[in-house]
Amino acid sequence: MPQATTIAQLRQSEYRVLPVKEEMRKNLVRKIKATEELFPGIIGYEGSVIPQIENAILSGQDIVFLGERGQAKSRLIRALVNLLDDEVPVIDGCEINDNPYAPICRACRDRVALHGDAVGVRWIAPDDRYSEKLATPDFRTSPSGSRSAC
Ligand SMILES: [Zn+2]
Repeated sequence: MPQATTIAQLRQSEYRVLPVKEEMRKNLVRKIKATEELFPGIIGYEGSVIPQIENAILSGQDIVFLGERGQAKSRLIRALVNLLDDEVPVIDGCEINDNPYAPICRACRDRVALHGDAVGVRWIAPDDRYSEKLATPDFRTSPSGSRSAC
């Protein structure tokens, strides 16, 4: 079946938008069953950190990564993107990738109020859903007031 291009088609396909924790859990279970390597290239955490991350995701917990520099915190976090669906629908033209069933930005809410389920959707990949913002203790404020990483 071709991908939905409108909210109406999305509803017709019975697509369900999952909260991100449920989406990650679903894909983690699938990858564990398929004995897929979850964190390729990360060595030495197979009996400690990785089972804790798996348990946290399976039980729907929030996760905080604490550790010294060089302990693969960033690599582990980046690898979590692999637990997202390959593509998810968002309202086409939305700056914040609104959920087609429950938009929160004014522009999308207005469009849905005016055009209903005829509003277009587009599909985005995991890398388009999240971006990385590094915030370490060596973050400084420049004389102009803007912040930059060192
Ligand atoms: Zn929007």
